[in-house]
Amino acid sequence: MSHQNPVFIPGPTNIPDRLRQAMNIQTIDHRAPNFVELLEPLLGDLKKVFKTASGQVITFPASGTGGWEAAITNTLSPGDRVLAARFGMFSQRWIDLCQRHNLDVEVIECEWGEGAPADLYGERLAADTSHEIKAVLVTHNETATGVRSDVGAVRRAIDAASHPAMLCVDCVSSLASMDFRMDEWGVDLAVSGSQKGFMLATGMAIVGVSQKAQDATKTATCPRTFFDFRDMAAANEKGGFPYTPPLQIMFGLRASLDMLFEEGLDSVFARHARIAEGVRKAVDAWGLRLCAKRRELYSDTVSAIHVPEGFDSNNLTNHIFDTYGVSFGVGLGQMAGRAFRIGHLGSLTDVMALSGIATVEMAMADLGYPVEIGSGTRAAQEYYRATARAAVRSAA
Ligand SMILES: *Cc1c(COP(=O)(O)O)cnc(C)c1O
Repeated sequence: MSHQNPVFIPGPTNIPDRLRQAMNIQTIDHRAPNFVELLEPLLGDLKKVFKTASGQVITFPASGTGGWEAAITNTLSPGDRVLAARFGMFSQRWIDLCQRHNLDVEVIECEWGEGAPADLYGERLAADTSHEIKAVLVTHNETATGVRSDVGAVRRAIDAASHPAMLCVDCVSSLASMDFRMDEWGVDLAVSGSQKGFMLATGMAIVGVSQKAQDATKTATCPRTFFDFRDMAAANEKGGFPYTPPLQIMFGLRASLDMLFEEGLDSVFARHARIAEGVRKAVDAWGLRLCAKRRELYSDTVSAIHVPEGFDSNNLTNHIFDTYGVSFGVGLGQMAGRAFRIGHLGSLTDVMALSGIATVEMAMADLGYPVEIGSGTRAAQEYYRATARAAVRSAA
């Protein structure tokens, strides 16, 4: 019966029954005149999630990686310099993607567990007086290390250097789970996907595009066909798609947006923050350490947790899967074997989180970890008890 258990991986996330049912539809004709009645409100409502009034939202049938590729190829040209920080597997993969498109990537190396260094971005930009740097890349939520970066601080650094570079942000594992403010932070390209905060099947890349990024499409020469913003925007304008859209996901997205707005975005963020804090209380009670270095970096969607010296985190996640039928995130890149991850985003409650915390404890006890069984569960229970009333009231 392990298929009844939630997954605690940081994406794809658990799909609520309401969304699974919403995606269970018979084919409709995407060239029919009424297709626009589905498409237009979706694009409009996605803008509310990105918190953009002046930008536009473009979607593609793809995972988040396709969203990266679309953002880069539509706005940049081979040889263009971009500035990026590397502090985890996802920021690394974005850098790799840029390099394969023959962009000249200036990399700021950071220790894993740190966030995007706004001060160092600022220094590099101030030194770039001839404005060679065309774009600044920031991974809002580094899913490998459980680190949330301060995008607003990077915007202030760009402005302080009076630099015209675009600000490109990966918000795949933060959008619709943690606050994101595209207009306020002056984000030009915001890349997300359907299978994390939106609680849907994988298959739709969702990209917020500012006016400045739209203008950049006119001069960008990176080759693109499937991912061409201009074709997609022109087709969307006429109420359609340039090719076959991922219909089932679009119906799911309609229901997902309805769910998010019914709960209220602020309540969604507060729920994630509260669940995450309970997980962190448990980690603390276990005597274990998060990869994220400081409280202000703690992600509310995923926690990466170092295992004690002498233990292999892959044994832990494999043991949990084999014995208890539950999936947790493995350590990625240089965290492989050294850390495991608890994904706590999307369709999740405190009660579900407690089941995950208790399961980790059973497995750690099985494997002889120096962790007292029940200690983390108790710490999370105390926190959830102390905060339950306010949480229930705000959800009502
Ligand atoms: C999940 C994720 C992606 C995209 O991954 P896909 O598997 O292509 O959807 C990109 N960046 C971050 C930070 C992620 O968490």
